[in-house]
Formats: sequence, structure tokens, C-alpha cells
Amino acid sequence: MRKAVFPGSFDPITLGHTDIIERALPLFDEIILAIGTNSNKNYMFSLEERLRFLRETFKNEPKITVTTYQGLTVDFCKEQNAGFLLRGLRNAQDLEFEKAIGQTNYKMSGIDTLFFITSSGKSHISSTVVRDVIRNNGNYEFMVPDVVRKAP
Ligand code: ADP
Repeated sequence: MRKAVFPGSFDPITLGHTDIIERALPLFDEIILAIGTNSNKNYMFSLEERLRFLRETFKNEPKITVTTYQGLTVDFCKEQNAGFLLRGLRNAQDLEFEKAIGQTNYKMSGIDTLFFITSSGKSHISSTVVRDVIRNNGNYEFMVPDVVRKAP
């Protein structure tokens, strides 16, 4: 069984994330969307909201499971018997950042990371931009799945 883990904060999930996930689906029997819970970041959306957005977005996709994890991402992959990590690349900055993490993860565990380059027209989308727009009462709906809404 081919399993991959897509780790992230998903604060909130965007159409950039869904693009990567949908394109990776044909390659795997299962993709685990995993929200890491050991960072000290301040989130706009609670863990419960972020989980709900992921679950509702993919409720009709039996190959996707949604969960949280603590500790090293590669330890979580081993626990789940997942052979690959999935990440997306929007630009050169993402590449530099992800390269170091991917190489370190591989050295530590032998688990490789599969990178998808963002689809044309989606590289401007990031959770950070979505949060900034929400904070300033702008129109963010075109960057996120329909289920993602900030309570007024
Ligand atoms: P993290 O906090 O770990 O960076 P994110 O939820 O922000 O988690 O992102 C998870 C992954 O999704 C990262 O690999 C990121 O590069 C990718 N990603 C986010 N937005 C896009 C996009 N518009 N196109 C492609 N990949 C994206």
C-alpha cells in the first residue's frame, strides 16, 4: 500500500494545498493530511477548525485521512508506515527552505519527499496572505475551499 504524509499547519487550507493534494492522489493509495501540533506559532484558526476544514474539504475522497501529530514528522511517517512526504513549491524561496528539510528528513529516516510545483495561477496563494486579507476584512474566498470561513 502506497502511503504519503502531507504535513502542514493548514492555517487555513488554501486552493494551493488542494491543488497539490489532488495532483498527488493518483500516485498513492492513501494520503494522510497531518497537522503538526508542536510548534509555538500563533494560529488564526484553532486546531479544531483547521481539522474540520480539512475533513469537510475531502469528505468525498476515501483515499484521504486527516489527523494531528506531535514530534518529528519522520517519526510520524514511520508510525503510519508512510514511505513518502509531500510538499509544494511556489518559488525559489520555498525550494531553498524545503531542500534543507527534505535532505535532513531523508538522512534521518530514508523517507523521501516528493515535491509538486504549484499549478500556474496558484503560486500567489498562501495561508499567510489569506490571513492578512481576513484581518483587513478583504475578499479571501477565492483563495480557499468553500468550507473555509472566518466567523465574523
Ligand atoms: P507549513 O507551516 O509547514 O509551511 P503550510 O500549511 O503553510 O505548512 O504549507 C504546507 C505545504 O503546502 C508546503 O509545502 C507549502 O509549500 C505548500 N503550499 C502552500 N501553498 C501552496 C501553493 N499555493 N502552491 C503550492 N504549494 C503550496
